[in-house]
Amino acid sequence: MQIYKVGGAVRDRLLGKPVTDIDWVVVGATAEEMLAQGFRPVGADFPVFLHPKSGEEYALARTERKSGRGYGGFTFHASPEVTLEEDLIRRDLTINAMAEDDQQNLTDPYHGQRDLDDRILRHVSPAFAEDPLRVLRVARFAARYAELGFKVAPETLELMRELSESGELEALTAERSWKEISRALMENQPQVFIQVLRDCGALKVLMPEVDALFGVPQPEAHHPEIDSGIHTLSVLEQAALHQQPLTVRWACLLHDLGKGLTPEEEWPRHIAHEHKGLKLIKAVNERFKAPKDCQELALLVGQYHTHGHRALELKASTLLELLQSFDVYRRPQRFEEFIVACEMDARGRKGLEQRSYPQADYLRGAASAARGVAVQPLLEKGFQGPELGEALKRERLKALKAYKESASS
Ligand code: ATP
Ligand code: MG
Repeated sequence: MQIYKVGGAVRDRLLGKPVTDIDWVVVGATAEEMLAQGFRPVGADFPVFLHPKSGEEYALARTERKSGRGYGGFTFHASPEVTLEEDLIRRDLTINAMAEDDQQNLTDPYHGQRDLDDRILRHVSPAFAEDPLRVLRVARFAARYAELGFKVAPETLELMRELSESGELEALTAERSWKEISRALMENQPQVFIQVLRDCGALKVLMPEVDALFGVPQPEAHHPEIDSGIHTLSVLEQAALHQQPLTVRWACLLHDLGKGLTPEEEWPRHIAHEHKGLKLIKAVNERFKAPKDCQELALLVGQYHTHGHRALELKASTLLELLQSFDVYRRPQRFEEFIVACEMDARGRKGLEQRSYPQADYLRGAASAARGVAVQPLLEKGFQGPELGEALKRERLKALKAYKESASS
C-alpha cells in the first residue's frame, strides 16, 4: 500500500501556513489490511481509520457517486484498485486536491498548485455539485484566505449559484451547516463568508433574514454606510479584528435582523427593530441548532443593543432591569459579551471604526455596583423568599443611583 498526505495539510504547507491536522489517503489497501495493522475503524460503512498511535485520519482511496438527495445520498466505493487521481477528483477545490508522498513529491492532477499561486478557489470537477455543503466550505475558505488575496473562480461561483437555486441546500442537516458556519465565523474575515454566500444566492436560502438586510437604508447620521447589510458585515469584521469569541460573532451577525421587517415607508428609521427582530433571531438560531450560549447571547444582544448604546442616559431603574435581564449576578461573562457586542456594533460603521465607546466601561461599572450589594446583611435583617428578592432589588437600585451620580460628577 502507498500512503499520501492529502487535503489541508498539503495546501497549508505550500502556503507556508502552520499545519494542524493531517489527513492521509491510503492507496492499494483493503479494510482488512488496515485493521490487521492496528488501525481503528471510524464508522461501520465508512472506509476511514484512525492511526493506532497518532489518531490521525487515514482514508482508503475511494470514489463516490450521488444516489439521492442530501448527504445520506452518497454511495462510496473503496477498493485497492481505486487510484490516487480517482480519489482526488471527488474533492471540493483544486487546492484541496493535492497529495504528497513521504519524499514531498506532489501529485497534483487538477492544478491545485497553479490555483494556489494565482489565489483562486476553483472546483475540481462538475461532481462538486453533488454535495451542497461545498457551497459553505468554499465560502469558508474564501473567508480564511481573503487576507492572502484568494477569490472564488467565476465558474465555481456559478456552480454554487446553481446549487443554491436547485433546492439542494435545504437538504443539509443543521449539524453539518452549523459546523461550517461556526468555523467560518471564527476565521479572520468572517464577513467574506457571508458576502460569498450572498454573491451566489446561498444566503437567501440559508439565512433569508440576513439577506433581507441588504438594500435596507439606515439614518446616515448614525450609519454613514447607510445599508443595513453592509453594516452587519462591518460589525462582523470588527468582531473578528477584536478577536471576539463565537458567541459574540453570532450575536453580531443577527443583532439587526428586525431592520429587514421595517415597512419601506418608515425607512430609514427602524422603530422597535430590536423587539421585532427577536422572532427572526429565534428562527435562525433554531434552524442551525446553534449552541445554547450562542442562541441566548444573540437574542439578548438583539433585544438590548440600543440600551447598550444609550447606557449613559439610562435611568438607574432601567439599568437595573437591563442587569436583571442578563442575570448579571450569576452570569457576569454573558453581560461582558453583550457589552463587547454593542461595542462592535458601534464600531462597525463607516469611518467610525476607531471611535471610543465609553458605554462599555460605564456598563462594567454599573454591573459591579449592582453585584457589590451583599446579601448577608439583608438575611441578617430577616428578609426571606420574595421579600429578600425585593430588598435586594431596592439595594441594587440605590447602588446604581449612587454609581450614576459618581460617574457624572
Ligand atoms: P481544514 O484546514 O479546515 O481542516 P481541510 O482542507 O483539511 O481544511 P477537512 O474538512 O479536514 O478540510 O477535509 C480534508 C480534505 O477532504 C479536504 O481538503 C478536501 O480535499 C476533502 N473534503 C472534505 N470535505 C469535503 C466535501 N464536503 N467535499 C469534497 N471534499 C471534501
Ligand atoms: Mg483537515
